[in-house]
Amino acid sequence: MEPVPSEFPATGRVEGPFPACASVAIIGGGLAGLATAWALGERGFGDVVVLERDDDLAAQASGRNAAMCRALAEDDAWTALTAAGAKFLRQPPPGFARAPLVDDRGAVLLAGADLAAELAARARRFAIAHAPITAAEVGARWPGLDVDRGGLFFPDDGVIDLAVLVEGYVTAARAAAVRIVTGAEVFGFTVGKGGVAVSTARGALHVQQVVIAAGAWADEVAARGGAPALDLTSRRRHVVALRARAPSAPIVWNVDGDEWYARPAGAEVWTSACDSDDVAAGVVDARLGAEAEARARVPAALAIAPLARVWACQRTFAGGPPVVARDAARPWLVRVVGLGGHGVTASAAVGRAAAAVVAGHQD
Ligand SMILES: Cc1cc2nc3c(=O)[nH]c(=O)nc-3n(C[C@H](O)[C@H](O)[C@H](O)COP(=O)(O)OP(=O)(O)OC[C@H]3O[C@@H](n4cnc5c(N)ncnc54)[C@H](O)[C@@H]3O)c2cc1C
Repeated sequence: MEPVPSEFPATGRVEGPFPACASVAIIGGGLAGLATAWALGERGFGDVVVLERDDDLAAQASGRNAAMCRALAEDDAWTALTAAGAKFLRQPPPGFARAPLVDDRGAVLLAGADLAAELAARARRFAIAHAPITAAEVGARWPGLDVDRGGLFFPDDGVIDLAVLVEGYVTAARAAAVRIVTGAEVFGFTVGKGGVAVSTARGALHVQQVVIAAGAWADEVAARGGAPALDLTSRRRHVVALRARAPSAPIVWNVDGDEWYARPAGAEVWTSACDSDDVAAGVVDARLGAEAEARARVPAALAIAPLARVWACQRTFAGGPPVVARDAARPWLVRVVGLGGHGVTASAAVGRAAAAVVAGHQD
């Protein structure tokens, strides 16, 4: 498999004995789990252990995405999360990030008049800065990009520094005494007297609450604890990285009709035909034809650029906005799942919502 572009601080395996007990176990060390851990720590609730199956944190969807911060999403429910998450990325708490979390290139959503009016109305409802933009103005911001329509420009959107974001969550969570363990696949959990016994590849852990933040594997993990599935769907999406430079150009996303996006990335431009096929958890191999699909949709100047690499990963959906909720029949179980295509942008908002659910039980 081609290496994916994101690199994360080596979080490493936890040294010393595996923790025997804690208040909360969070299953999954992607952005959902890490942001929940950080937000619990922010509330002074640090008796938490994050259990991640892989040897590195954020190595699945959270490390294989396009890292775009877009405050406006497809409906109001999602936009409530993305707008709040984007605000956090632009203005994180003092000391959270060692470098800016998002750059200031902005994003263009290409859309016909009707859809542009609908998007502008939503942007106004959520106080998201935006302005109309013509096709010629898009070409001025991205010389050579020949688009056939304008739309809306969002000056506060941009590209997220994933490594700095993950490091920020991890560092702040650890400072609040959260323990983070990698190589700790959760095999099962059972409720007994005095709490929940969680069985992992690193040892057994006793907790009062379990948070499932396992992305595409969330239903599988729930089954390992005898909890019902939410019938999540995992949809594979490809990113086709082309060798082209557009250093200060905005993200450009055609949201009207045959979708595509182009997102500058150093010596590359990452493109996607916004494909979406249902796959089983863990199916992230690139499909034959994905490159051709992207080339067929993006503007001509990009379509001819040489290939740098192609990769795919899964966006996981719960049939609407994310599920951040306690299980009605299992008061010890909370799910933070279904972050779809917005889990990076929305992570802080999702984490804070999850922490409120978890801490509410303890109060
Ligand atoms: C191609 C693509 C492009 C995207 N672009 C963007 C974008 O531009 N902007 C944006 O905001 N979002 C984007 N997203 C969406 C974003 O990446 C996801 O919403 C987000 O990463 C989901 O985070 P998560 O923590 O829920 O899942 P994951 O990152 O998959 O984390 C789940 C973790 O659970 C672990 N796990 C699973 N089973 C177990 C077990 N039994 N025990 C312990 N651990 C377990 C996994 O190893 C994994 O690390 C994109 C997604 C894709 C696929």
